[in-house]
Amino acid sequence: MTSSAPVNQPELAGHPHFHYRGGVLHAEDVALDTLAAELGTPLYVYSRAALAAAWQSYRDAIGGRPVLVCFGMKANSNLAVLKEFARMGAGFDIVSGGELQRVLAVGGDPSRVVFSGVGKQAWEMRMAIEAGVKCFNVESQAELRRLSRVAHEMGKVAPVSLRVNPDVDAQTHPYISTGLKENKFGIAIEAALDAYRLAASLPGLKVVGVDCHIGSQLTDISPYFDALEKLLDLIDQLASAGITIEHLDLGGGLGIRYTDEVPPSPKALLDRVFDRLQARGYGHLHLMLEPGRSLVGNAGLLLTTVQFLKHSDARNFAIVDAAMNDLLRPSLYEAYHGLRAVTPRPGATQEYDVVGPVCESGDWLARQRQLHVEEGDVLALESAGAYGMVMASNYNSRGRPAEVMVDGAKYYVVRQRETIEDLMRGETTLP
Ligand SMILES: *Cc1c(COP(=O)(O)O)cnc(C)c1O
Repeated sequence: MTSSAPVNQPELAGHPHFHYRGGVLHAEDVALDTLAAELGTPLYVYSRAALAAAWQSYRDAIGGRPVLVCFGMKANSNLAVLKEFARMGAGFDIVSGGELQRVLAVGGDPSRVVFSGVGKQAWEMRMAIEAGVKCFNVESQAELRRLSRVAHEMGKVAPVSLRVNPDVDAQTHPYISTGLKENKFGIAIEAALDAYRLAASLPGLKVVGVDCHIGSQLTDISPYFDALEKLLDLIDQLASAGITIEHLDLGGGLGIRYTDEVPPSPKALLDRVFDRLQARGYGHLHLMLEPGRSLVGNAGLLLTTVQFLKHSDARNFAIVDAAMNDLLRPSLYEAYHGLRAVTPRPGATQEYDVVGPVCESGDWLARQRQLHVEEGDVLALESAGAYGMVMASNYNSRGRPAEVMVDGAKYYVVRQRETIEDLMRGETTLP
């Protein structure tokens, strides 16, 4: 179990915004050992420059072409993160009325908001129509009827796209694959023409687009093109039926590097999409994208402190102060997050499972990692900016972590750590 070989880890997933300087891991110009000492752990740390760089990679890929990028904000809905994207001119892809209120709270532009999700309630539709969102991505005929009724009652017209399920295999984890027939999402491509006819016939609706979102953490672009050809066939059929659309929304899903993945760049995706649009006579269509993970995933880390080391015949455990309630992805998807010591110790490493204090065997954060650690050491889980804090819960009556945004040599606490009073608020006992 003891190994003296140096661990040959690739560079940090959030490089260059997360990097070692003088033997200490930094976020931009802030030393993370200091940050952990001042703010405590577990602690989510985001880099403002990393958010800007991820956004810029989309801007550069777009060039002058008509593309609206709507941040898939369920990946990270902290107000400070949303405010950065709003400032940079992003739209937002929302999946609830609560998310819309967050967009409005940071002064985001509702005319750049698309509303996705299979279970929109009437109050959420009303709120979104009132705000003036750009489009509802509708996922069923029943939803079309509800939206029509709500808009009609308000004397308004709701802009709609249908989320079409193109039945393509995104070749990703089953829990984050959404474009296959057996998924709950979207309208089957064979049923889409009928659903569009219904949409065109109902009062209070205006058909404006076609939408899909085939999955998440895609590391290969070919599924996008399988979907694109099917959607363009559908748009041909719609044109023949006298239904014209203004935009095509290809959803989110671009992957990031957690370990050694080499995900496609926004430019690789967009260049080929525009080639295909041109080739099929749709060069004039406006394009929309809904990236979540690829805008924030590698802009965040989760810091955690080793509480105990526990050695058994079978395993070495590093028990840390973060748990599945703070970062659910390993438990939920067996997801891999890179793990680093904030101040690495020289010398021999041992293989550890890094686990939390929650009373579940599924409560682990990293497995079979070569580490040289001692009690009190601070570790960083990489690539924790997407689907990290947003999935945190209070299981085991654990307050959720604080979140901090680093900006150069400065940092800002953008969400306070939850207290036990926060957790008990709203609860009462019987008289
Ligand atoms: C989750 C989601 C996204 C964002 O997906 P990423 O994989 O994080 O890019 C975009 N659109 C819809 C409809 C979603 O549900």
